[in-house]
Amino acid sequence: MNAHIFSQINPPQRLLMGPGPINADPRVLRAMSAPLLGQYDPAMTAYMNEVMMLYRSVFRTNNDRTLLINGTSRAGIEAILVSAIRPGDKVLVPVFGRFGHLLCEIARRCQAEVHIIETPWGTVFTPDQIEDAIKRVRPTLLLTVHGDTSTTMRQPMEELGAICRRHNVLFYTDATATLGGNIVETELWGIDAVSAGMQKCLGGSAGTSPITLSEQMADYIYRRRHVEEGIRDALHQDGEETIISSNYFDLAMVMDYWGSERLNHHTEATTALYGARECARLILQEGLNEGIARHKLHGDALRSGIEAMGLEIFGDLQHKMNNVLGIHIPDSLHDQQIRECMLNDFGIEIGTSFGPLKGKVWRIGTMGYNARKDCVMQTLAALEATINRHGYKTIQGAAMESAWRVYDNHKKS
Ligand SMILES: *Cc1c(COP(=O)(O)O)cnc(C)c1O
Repeated sequence: MNAHIFSQINPPQRLLMGPGPINADPRVLRAMSAPLLGQYDPAMTAYMNEVMMLYRSVFRTNNDRTLLINGTSRAGIEAILVSAIRPGDKVLVPVFGRFGHLLCEIARRCQAEVHIIETPWGTVFTPDQIEDAIKRVRPTLLLTVHGDTSTTMRQPMEELGAICRRHNVLFYTDATATLGGNIVETELWGIDAVSAGMQKCLGGSAGTSPITLSEQMADYIYRRRHVEEGIRDALHQDGEETIISSNYFDLAMVMDYWGSERLNHHTEATTALYGARECARLILQEGLNEGIARHKLHGDALRSGIEAMGLEIFGDLQHKMNNVLGIHIPDSLHDQQIRECMLNDFGIEIGTSFGPLKGKVWRIGTMGYNARKDCVMQTLAALEATINRHGYKTIQGAAMESAWRVYDNHKKS
């Protein structure tokens, strides 16, 4: 094999307006090219401490246990589930999209007894529906998705923490798609564990998953591990049957690695940590609330433009996430032809959805670095031109005009 046949990496310029990943902020990419450090270098451990502090603010919590899992968002989900669940535990999963099914799938691998409640895609649950299910199932854990990008819906969480306390249930949520672009109040809402990822509203590159654990959740995880280790020592055997099956995602060990003793576990992914630190720093520099308002504004402008083309928005608009828009694909248009034209002729990526919505709904994201006016205007202009070329006639310029109006009204208010 002659390595000369491979050219230098030189990817095409794309504007990533799908449901994630999105274009990383150039400042994040610059941070990720900084020189490497050894994992016990005081400069490195100082950066780890800073990351913990920054993400406490991003998650809106004082949780001591706020750290990064190396791996994509799914790694954060899996670390929490595999560390908190033991075979036979009852968990309840309210499913309103693809990522609810993912929680079920991971929980089943942990040999949980998985109980599901479902609602049609495009809707969310009322707190009463969730409380009723908790009373019926009596789970140890409630596993939820905050914003499910597959349906663009955002599950209200304000009341769920109190419900979980009343019934002595630990409360987890996957905030991968919402953190930074929608309100996420870890402490105020009483959430015991939250996980996220970099490539959505945080404006970074996939590869690290920030998580935060309440004192109660951390104790719960530690207690189980100590009991298991005790059993293993007492039996003088391997104890494979009792101890959690993952080393990499064993949060008791990961917490000790990030804790003051820095007990060796894995080698923290240095470059990814620089990126995650810069994402949080940029968000807090802008202001968390200001960033969320920005996501709302550009999401509203996009929606207004799409509606002005005569296209229909998917789902219950009262519960739509700020940062992703679902659009019913008109029968006269072919999903893939339109997305290919957008990509090949304009360099713009938009997405379709999964399962029952595949080929029926487009998803356009306005998140992180791409929650910007120029991104919205370019995407509307390109989509309008594309669908007109494929026979779906719109009033020329109406989409842009409508989006401009949203921006003008915002400026006045
Ligand atoms: C995008 C998304 C993920 C993605 O997981 P990765 O491992 O980073 O691909 C997980 N959960 C939700 C709700 C998402 O929207």
